[in-house]
Amino acid sequence: MARIAVAGGAGLIGSHLCSLLVERGDTVYCIDNLSTGFRENILPLSKKKNFHFVKADISKPFRAPKVGCIYNLASPASPIDYQEKPIQTLDAGSVGVKNLLELARKSDAKILFASTSEVYGNPLEHPQKESYWGNVNPIGPRSCYDEAKRFGEAMCSSYRRVYGVDAKIARIFNTYGPKMRANDGRVVPNFICQALGNEPITVYGNGSQTRSFCYVSDLVDGLDRLMASEEQGPMNLGNPRETTMLELANLVVSLAGSGSKIVFEGLPQDDPERRMPDISLAKKTLGWHPKTSLEEGLAISIDYFRSRMHAGLKQN
Ligand code: UDP
Repeated sequence: MARIAVAGGAGLIGSHLCSLLVERGDTVYCIDNLSTGFRENILPLSKKKNFHFVKADISKPFRAPKVGCIYNLASPASPIDYQEKPIQTLDAGSVGVKNLLELARKSDAKILFASTSEVYGNPLEHPQKESYWGNVNPIGPRSCYDEAKRFGEAMCSSYRRVYGVDAKIARIFNTYGPKMRANDGRVVPNFICQALGNEPITVYGNGSQTRSFCYVSDLVDGLDRLMASEEQGPMNLGNPRETTMLELANLVVSLAGSGSKIVFEGLPQDDPERRMPDISLAKKTLGWHPKTSLEEGLAISIDYFRSRMHAGLKQN
């Protein structure tokens, strides 16, 4: 059984990944500073003997566990979070990435860096292939995240070239599912919580911008396969079904059986007009493709938020 570190293990993707690895019998060290991660996400795991929580910030010195495999998912990831914490986001993508690459180098461990579709910025190529270099505003409000991830990719590529570290890069497209924070500002929790509360659904701009939403367990399966493979990426992981925000709003209202009306609000600066992954590389090399339809994944997510509301749990 492997010894694995999951940095950012209390976040959406990290906590689902920790569950998969713990169930499989691996020894898992979840490293998280809980700045945007949520302790409750890993509470059920804390009773397991092969799960260990390390409260630490990867961009500061910390006592690292001895592992053979590292997933680096540690960063604020929602636009609201990273725009509230721009310096911490830049630190996580630079100093933090370097610290974990050093750990990988010293312990001869494999490492997987969670990059993002944001490296493509407002893409001029559609759908986006890994060979596309992107169209990113280097000084805009999203740049702290986009450029940190681009820097992280450059750091991984340099550690590969200079030290031969087995550093893999996954470019993750919009991911959703249970354990998202209700107030992280992203479109899926916003629309679901608004629909469940029969409040207006806030569509930004005219709602014609697109995203492609991947259910979290599909995404985690892709990460697991990439780690197990000889591939280094960059590799797109996401669901290629492209949806406008207006379609998403209507779908959530109908699946939630809600009486909410749609309202239109201002479009945030530099909001990408469209996003859709080309996943032919992941299909060919990992045999991976997402299996959960948007309807199924949204229905599960709606149930999750509904049960939290009924239980009177804090929406964090
Ligand atoms: N969005 C929206 N209403 C909301 C929150 C977001 O219309 O209440 C839009 C946002 O402008 C963007 C898309 O939904 O076009 C996805 O936003 P999100 O913050 O989830 O992620 P992004 O892909 O922009 O990082």
